[in-house]
Amino acid sequence: MTGVVVIGAGQGGFQLAASLRQEGYEGPVTLIGDEPGRPYQRPPLSKAYLKDGRVNAIELRPESFFDRNAITLMASERVIRIDRNAKAIETLGGVAIAYDHLVLATGARNFVPPIRGLDGRGVFGLRTAEDACRLRDALARGSRRPIVIGGGFIGLEFAAVAAAGGHEATVVEAAERLMARALSPAMSQRFLDYHTKSGTRLVRGAAVTEILRDQAGDVVGARLADGEVIDGDMVLVAAGIRPNVELAEQAGLTVANGIVVDGFMRTSDPDISALGDCAAFPDPSSGRSIRLESVQAATDHARTIARRLTGKPHAYEAVPWFWSDQGPLKLQIAGLGVGADEDHAIEKEDGRKLVFRFKLGKLLALETINAAAEHMAARQLLKSPTKVKFDELAQCGFDIGGLAKARKVQT
Ligand SMILES: Cc1cc2nc3c(=O)[nH]c(=O)nc-3n(C[C@H](O)[C@H](O)[C@H](O)COP(=O)(O)OP(=O)(O)OC[C@H]3O[C@@H](n4cnc5c(N)ncnc54)[C@H](O)[C@@H]3O)c2cc1C
Repeated sequence: MTGVVVIGAGQGGFQLAASLRQEGYEGPVTLIGDEPGRPYQRPPLSKAYLKDGRVNAIELRPESFFDRNAITLMASERVIRIDRNAKAIETLGGVAIAYDHLVLATGARNFVPPIRGLDGRGVFGLRTAEDACRLRDALARGSRRPIVIGGGFIGLEFAAVAAAGGHEATVVEAAERLMARALSPAMSQRFLDYHTKSGTRLVRGAAVTEILRDQAGDVVGARLADGEVIDGDMVLVAAGIRPNVELAEQAGLTVANGIVVDGFMRTSDPDISALGDCAAFPDPSSGRSIRLESVQAATDHARTIARRLTGKPHAYEAVPWFWSDQGPLKLQIAGLGVGADEDHAIEKEDGRKLVFRFKLGKLLALETINAAAEHMAARQLLKSPTKVKFDELAQCGFDIGGLAKARKVQT
């Protein structure tokens, strides 16, 4: 018996190994990752870890967990080939490992836009613990004016940390509003106000075309497409990610904006599954093929695969949720707001904010700031086959917690 082999020892790969044991899988489990050390969480990299660098706080489990659960962890080992006929993988170090079932949990890598002068020192990405350490060092060494390319979650979380440390960041975002891909206009505006107040400059609807350097090669600024020059002494590129699909492509699996899987997370080869950032899966509510970049998707995908491999198949049906911490603002999103045709925003006196997002009168998603109870209520209600209607919410004054209680869903 050759067991389950997982390529990628990140959030989803780790969860799969752990869930297999929880579900009673008794065969060998091998987790292969090309990063050094034990699996860790990425969310703190742009939040607490960027400030304190405490490795223990980000590791998903200590070494004893892997021993106790007989999970073989191969770190710093890159898989370079899948041989589907032989049902085996091969690593860069020349190790060949056979599998009964293979799981692709290869995640994603940073997208690097075509900008002149990006090569060279003073330019950073933020994907790995190593990236976060380099960034923290650059800030500590005296960089005062970071330029951030991309006003999405990671760029803005970094900007919040930088502002709290007294740095004057400039964020350049191509779209007209912040985090536009995932957030309602009202919520984008709330974060624009917060970052502006914190001393971060936000340039929207603009593209960086060139990184400017002095004669010694140090970053001194960036030029925008309209010719404006922004002063700065380092650059963080946070312009989105691209799924790691090359192994799957080389193996002849179907790939389209990610490794294509069905509702049970099976690729076009039934002996291979895929999960997390690299997987394009059918959205349970719309049926559309989507790819989500979140801890929730990676871990719930992993649980779906583990249940199937232990004889309890259950199609993936989780409600998506996400969070982002920017200074004192804890953003939480329940559901997916893409395609919303109506928003209803509520601002509370204590600083909480809620944006209900609807399509054709039915609740698609709830975005909240510092309102954990309402977020949890929305997650429970969105799970229910009985859709939440605009009128129903309006009748109860948009008291979503009260509605959840009335419907007797657990929050
Ligand atoms: C800075 C940052 C902040 C984030 N904040 C949040 C947040 O607040 N909330 C949230 O929900 N999500 C957040 N995310 C996203 C979340 O971390 C990811 O969605 C999640 O990690 C995806 O899990 P995954 O297992 O698919 O991929 P990953 O965790 O990225 O793991 C993939 C692993 O596979 C390895 N790998 C790739 N190819 C190979 C190969 N050929 N051989 C061996 N190993 C390979 C990679 O090096 C990597 O270690 C954040 C991400 C980052 C980078």
